[in-house]
Amino acid sequence: MLKIVFATHNPHKLQEIKAMLPDAIELIGLDKLDFYDDIPETRDTLEGNALQKARFIFEKFGVNCFADDTGLEVDALNGRPGVHSARYAGDGNDSNANMDKLLDELKSSANRRAQFRTVIALIIDGEELLFNGIAEGEIIDEKRGKEGFGYDPIFIPKGYRETFAQMPLPKKNRISHRFKATKMLADYLMSLNYF
Ligand code: IMP
Repeated sequence: MLKIVFATHNPHKLQEIKAMLPDAIELIGLDKLDFYDDIPETRDTLEGNALQKARFIFEKFGVNCFADDTGLEVDALNGRPGVHSARYAGDGNDSNANMDKLLDELKSSANRRAQFRTVIALIIDGEELLFNGIAEGEIIDEKRGKEGFGYDPIFIPKGYRETFAQMPLPKKNRISHRFKATKMLADYLMSLNYF
């Protein structure tokens, strides 16, 4: 059995990733380490933030661990909002305001290409690895659907006709950026000599 700490305080994320990992991997939350403080997240790239969070937990507790960071990267905006996705329209992580700002910026743009990208930084036996999960698609010009969260109502993944917010969650979770990055993490962990 491999035990690994997920450096997040978000119980939904912990549950979501737990459901994607094989039973042979025991995922541990920061509450099990009695750690409730904020984890610094001050870099200007997804890779930088994911590594910063994983290193912080590794240095503090000396445990095998990983951390993630996700952003929506829009071609016509040179990759914005990217690492600033949560607070694009200001503090408060207001999804509606974030989407309104993005739709306004893209109002006169014919190029609607975008991607969600999740970076997972893993530190295992002192070694650092990065996994990169991408869901390609496009930004439409209105909000559609009630499922999911964040920018889901304005994002249609490539090869589909509905937004992430119009899909039942299990369907989104089979094709999402987070799923792809987590699958790479799981495949890597299962290939190690722990089992
Ligand atoms: P985090 O790094 O997972 O906290 O994601 C940062 C921000 O990216 C979130 O606050 C959302 O605005 C956006 N985001 C991340 N994942 C998704 C997703 O699956 N759908 C829509 N928006 C997302």
